[in-house]
Amino acid sequence: MTVSIKRFKKGDTVIVLSGKDKGRRGKVLRVLPTEQKLVVENLNMVKRNTKPTNENPQGGIVARPAPMPLGKVMVVCSKCNKPTRIAMTEKESGTYVRTCKHCGAGLDK
Ligand SMILES: [Zn+2]
Repeated sequence: MTVSIKRFKKGDTVIVLSGKDKGRRGKVLRVLPTEQKLVVENLNMVKRNTKPTNENPQGGIVARPAPMPLGKVMVVCSKCNKPTRIAMTEKESGTYVRTCKHCGAGLDK
């Protein structure tokens, strides 16, 4: 896993930097380290035909978020509410603490 994908975690709010969803924000639903991509709620939506299931007996067209490259998004700091670069500090245990480069707030709860 590279450091860059470690800057993103499930539950983060991110803002889109380019493409059709530019400027929109969403919550990270999944981080895909091997693909260097993120699945973000309500962003990069694609329509798919689905077969009928118990939840959706009719089947039909369902819109879902498709994975997007992490280079297209930035984390939005939950404290200062700005898109920010993330500072990573490695702890002795080998885990990382993420902090906002604007306000210095810790981004991990
Ligand atoms: Zn901040």
